[in-house]
Amino acid sequence: MTQNGEHYRCGFVAVVGRPNVGKSTLINAVLGSKISIVSPKPQTTRHRILAVQSTDAYQLVFIDTPGLHRKADRAMNRMMNRTAAAALADADVILFVCEADRWKPEDQDVLERIKAARAPAIAVMNKVDRVHPKSALLEKIAAMSTRHDFAEIVPISARRKDNVDRLLAVLPDYVPESPPLYPDDIVTDRGEWFRVAELIREKLTLLLRDELPYGLTVQVERLDRKDDRVLIHAVIWVERDSQKRIVIGKGGSMLKEVGSAARVDIARQLGERVHLELWVKVKDNWADSDRDLKSLGFDTF
Ligand code: GDP
Ligand code: MG
Repeated sequence: MTQNGEHYRCGFVAVVGRPNVGKSTLINAVLGSKISIVSPKPQTTRHRILAVQSTDAYQLVFIDTPGLHRKADRAMNRMMNRTAAAALADADVILFVCEADRWKPEDQDVLERIKAARAPAIAVMNKVDRVHPKSALLEKIAAMSTRHDFAEIVPISARRKDNVDRLLAVLPDYVPESPPLYPDDIVTDRGEWFRVAELIREKLTLLLRDELPYGLTVQVERLDRKDDRVLIHAVIWVERDSQKRIVIGKGGSMLKEVGSAARVDIARQLGERVHLELWVKVKDNWADSDRDLKSLGFDTF
């Protein structure tokens, strides 16, 4: 029983949608901190991440998914699709995130998967800050309601945190009565090493932009605490020598910039002083091989 005499609720909320609609931004807005990295490029999220929101009446366990990909021709894309499918199967309720101002064939693909899942779906129309005039929103909501029998349709702006509280207010109704699954002081099941690697990858994504190599990944190899500092040793894996040159930049300038931006963010997150060492290494075509993906710590099902 909770303080106000109701039964505790707890369940899984799958956050799905095509790449770049704002799923990670939404989860971060809900949790009020940077759980999952956010970037303007698609394919930023490759892992399944649990973010946990606990109150004295309910606990919501969010599953942030990699975007579903149409082309499943590379091992990495196939694995991302499997991860997202598993999130749907586990869910008590599905948050179908899309952009309020556009509807793409890829959105329809994701919706088809949602229709096949047993959990109720809430349509989250994100980025309403881009809809002008505001009156146009009503039309868009009406159009959305014809696409599927959604449990709710909630327009939000994840970036501005507009209406996110309304979404949170309805969510607990869709999870079952259950004791909490996680201690109330944890916000993610991902460890420190993973989060550090993700922050480094975020900086690479932001700084390299269109030059970001497709197969790039980051692996933390060491994380030690010594004196008053955290010593971190991380490897940036790329697929070819030419990509290695891009990541390092002229005279090491790019790698330096990535390193100092990442260090600032990691230090803020950990609340400690950080010494960061980055290495760039070439691993031939690892994104095509399931075995190599496993050795780099990707989820496999
Ligand atoms: P994901 O691939 O679905 O996880 O998308 P991200 O959370 O990484 O966001 C993709 C891009 O959309 C980023 O540039 C975000 O800053 C941007 N974005 C997210 N939410 C909003 C929003 O409410 N309004 C606007 N204008 N942009 C947003
Ligand atoms: Mg994401």
